[in-house]
Amino acid sequence: MSLFLSRVNLPVLSPTGRNFWENVKTAVVVYIIFTRLVKTERHVRARGIVHSVVDVYKSVVQETLLLALRFPAARKKVENELAKARLEIEKKLVPQGPGVTRHLSLPDQGHDTDWIIKEMAKMDEESGSHVDWRDGKVSGAVYHGGEDMQKVIIAAMERYCVSNPLHPDVFPAVRKMEAEIVAMVLKLYNNPNGAGTTTSGGTESIIMAVKTYRDWARATKGITEPEMVVPITAHAAFDKGAAYLGVKVHTIPVHPETRQVDIKRVRRAINANTIMIVGSAINFPDGNQDDIFALGKLASKHKVGLHVDCCLGSFIMPFLEEAGFPVQPFDFRVEGVTSISCDTHKGSSIIMYRDAALRRYQYYINPDWVGGLYGSPSIAGSRPGAIIAGTWAALQYMGHSGYLESCKQIVTAAKTIARRIKSEIPELRILGNPPASVVAFASAHESELNVLEVGDAMSKKGWHLNALSKPAAVHIAVTRLTIPVVDQFIADLKDSVREAQITPSGKGTMVMLYGLGQSSAVGPTMVGHIAEAFLDTMYKA
Ligand SMILES: *Cc1c(COP(=O)(O)O)cnc(C)c1O
Repeated sequence: MSLFLSRVNLPVLSPTGRNFWENVKTAVVVYIIFTRLVKTERHVRARGIVHSVVDVYKSVVQETLLLALRFPAARKKVENELAKARLEIEKKLVPQGPGVTRHLSLPDQGHDTDWIIKEMAKMDEESGSHVDWRDGKVSGAVYHGGEDMQKVIIAAMERYCVSNPLHPDVFPAVRKMEAEIVAMVLKLYNNPNGAGTTTSGGTESIIMAVKTYRDWARATKGITEPEMVVPITAHAAFDKGAAYLGVKVHTIPVHPETRQVDIKRVRRAINANTIMIVGSAINFPDGNQDDIFALGKLASKHKVGLHVDCCLGSFIMPFLEEAGFPVQPFDFRVEGVTSISCDTHKGSSIIMYRDAALRRYQYYINPDWVGGLYGSPSIAGSRPGAIIAGTWAALQYMGHSGYLESCKQIVTAAKTIARRIKSEIPELRILGNPPASVVAFASAHESELNVLEVGDAMSKKGWHLNALSKPAAVHIAVTRLTIPVVDQFIADLKDSVREAQITPSGKGTMVMLYGLGQSSAVGPTMVGHIAEAFLDTMYKA
């Protein structure tokens, strides 16, 4: 800036001119300082003074430690540890040994179906620690899992195997089914006159919502430095969307007892650059629901978007009331709710808006493209029509009564798990008061029991549960497959608590990975490197 000004400030200018440029210079400096101050003030207001000081302290410690890790001796040690971790990951994910065939280039001649299916069976075998999701011990992966349902979906997908909704004139039925899926889900969320689109999953729905509010705020309010306010328990897809789209995130803590986002803190974080606030119904980590009514009031008052994440609440939340379970309002009937994401399954999702005008900000339109007038509703261009057909078929197959019955059984199972942990396992405590299908438990006394040890002991008994942090906890997302194994879950959990108390191994995946993340200021950076290694390994053929 000063370089530019001094270059302009040439002797040609009269003394009055020089004075003028001096004033401009001062004004620019004052402007920069002022905007920095405003930003800092907004940041501190959102985080709170204590948190802001702690943040600064933590980042200084982290920077210092990371600097220290650059010294050769330290760096070597870190690199060794990372190499070890990488090997461990490879051993787990990539089948090895002389018997393993690797298909690294196209076969010279094509194979027949028999060969292909046999080869797939071999690959299922090779992975060794093959997990059977059918036994119900996998948390929140397959939601229905019935063979009857699988047949329906396969039949639908087979029929529309090569269809692509990018060509509605070629595949008119797929276009119609897609529109009908959106209509059915809008009705379920009490907004029959609203608008929406299908997406490839919860993450895409959430990224689309962030994009919609960003473009809406730019067009209607002139906001060029967008910010959003997100509960700490909201899904990482919000941070991902913000990172992709250049939106600043204010992360707001939840109340330690209710696990609902602190409404006062949300209010303090809203400022003139806020495009949206977020609530979950229910959230992924502990299955609790934010106070959507209070968030709606804030959104209306400040004229910002309110996105409610029902990706996980999906087809459970809308049926709770009719199934006779207590539920706080969460859908479009709440004033201020402007969008909702709802997954028809993990990997297939709907993003809904209060009205079609808001949905228009989600679209991408390019009238000038050499390839022709181009318009696309979401991130993908071409999309698999088979997924749409499969989804449509699943909704038709289940029907209202099917979902209602599933809701009753799943939520009863989840509530049984929560109730029995409370009454029979005093070493554990339930996080919040989860209304639907997810139950998270933490150690009642962290100094006496490491709940991640309990999670690792459960893994040894064949359970696939999720580890959580802040606080360390473990959750189970109940699906239809969990219903018959609730008693076994409680029995195994009791044994696991005892094992973790008597002989903690300190070596399980949860303890290593999540313990490391919280062990020191550089923990998160190290865990980040391990995550990179994990992703690299995913593409090791
Ligand atoms: C899983 C999940 C998402 C993201 O969905 P993906 O299918 O992983 O893209 C978003 N929100 C919640 C609450 C979720 O549980």
